[in-house]
Amino acid sequence: MHTSLRFLGAAGTVTGSKLLVDTGESRLLIDAGLFQGPRELRRRNWRPLPVPASSIDAVVLTHAHLDHSGYLPALVDQGFAGPIVTTRWTAELAAIVLRDSAHLQEEDAAFAAGHGYSRHAAPRPLYDTADAERCLPMFRPTALGDEVSPCAEVSVHLQSAGHILGSASAVVTTRGRRFVVSGDLGRPSHPLLAAPPPPPAVDAIVVESTYGDRRHAGDDLAALADVVTRTIGRGGSVLIPAFAVDRTEVLLHALRRLGSEGRIPRVPVFVDSPMALAALEVYRRALREQDPELAAGTDLEALDPGDLHEAHTASQSRGLDPPNRPSIIVSASGMATGGRVVHHLKHLLPDERNAVVLVGYQAEGTRGRSLEDGAAAIKMHGRYVPVRAEVVVLHGFSVHADAGEIVGWLAATPAPPDVVYVWHGEVRASRALARRVRDELGWHTVVPEDGERVLL
Ligand SMILES: [Zn+2]
Repeated sequence: MHTSLRFLGAAGTVTGSKLLVDTGESRLLIDAGLFQGPRELRRRNWRPLPVPASSIDAVVLTHAHLDHSGYLPALVDQGFAGPIVTTRWTAELAAIVLRDSAHLQEEDAAFAAGHGYSRHAAPRPLYDTADAERCLPMFRPTALGDEVSPCAEVSVHLQSAGHILGSASAVVTTRGRRFVVSGDLGRPSHPLLAAPPPPPAVDAIVVESTYGDRRHAGDDLAALADVVTRTIGRGGSVLIPAFAVDRTEVLLHALRRLGSEGRIPRVPVFVDSPMALAALEVYRRALREQDPELAAGTDLEALDPGDLHEAHTASQSRGLDPPNRPSIIVSASGMATGGRVVHHLKHLLPDERNAVVLVGYQAEGTRGRSLEDGAAAIKMHGRYVPVRAEVVVLHGFSVHADAGEIVGWLAATPAPPDVVYVWHGEVRASRALARRVRDELGWHTVVPEDGERVLL
């Protein structure tokens, strides 16, 4: 009996990560992510798993981002009852992310019902708050490096992935074979987190390729300083759509540094996203505890850019449109697919004094990608809003490794694996990374298809 791996998402796309490991004796799911982005992709959240959820014995969760964790409540709703092995910080951040997601699922279903958008008589959410709450006691926080056996014939340990607080790669051993799943891989230069250690010697590596065809700018701090200074100088405000977890912290850290070095004018900085603010509290706690996952020497002040304001309530958020004086607004969601940032875009995009700074990956089909691609107008709440504000793209703030950094991480393993599966990327990016790994390391690579099953 061979163990099989089955790629149930994140093949040809960056969302919906689910890797089913089947030993014949037991089934393990590594990540249970939501598909996000255009409707064709989101529709995949409704397709049935190839095996009953109740037959899955355990889940390993690499990190809290929705495209890795957001399917968990659906899995529980369908009968999954096993442990969810993850790190302590991921368990804390995932609780924030999943509660928010359940709320959005409920809202979407209610909206579709109210507007007759849905073809179903009574559209129901993919899952609800009760499902999300039921997940949370199933988390089994595990220390990095501790070997655990969540199901028969499987042992797992987590090692830091340096992507967001709590993020990990999973090292799985079953029937004498060992493989590692990178999860989302951070950059060695993450300002708050320690660099990820290289993979151990294994038979197979499953690696992400979000930026498999790109090289990040070395340092975008100067570019951020320029756009902030320029925008404030002409009386405008800077809007930064940011993923609620981690990117907000990276930005606050950058603004702190630029402010204390006198490289940007001192203006109010608003963090406007309840989820981002909840996540910020978790980061602050990790900083207070001096968690070893953090880069040496970072302290609580690293996240305080000075004139910091937290917009918790909806009315505080609305009060920012438009800001009554030049400001910096950091708001979610990072790809402007929803959340408070959409309202800010609606108000700020038509004024050429303002600037929108895109600092994260913008998936195909999102408003963020349209802005990145130079659209003249963006559709929001049924209306096209003209894009007159300056749009600046800064990939240097990415918390994903670029192609060279991924190859560097792979190359540092003590012994070459038999095979590298390159997934979690748009097709072009996955193929480009596979080619580089083949050319530069001489390793065998495979870009798996959606739903493909391979033997370990
Ligand atoms: Zn991620």
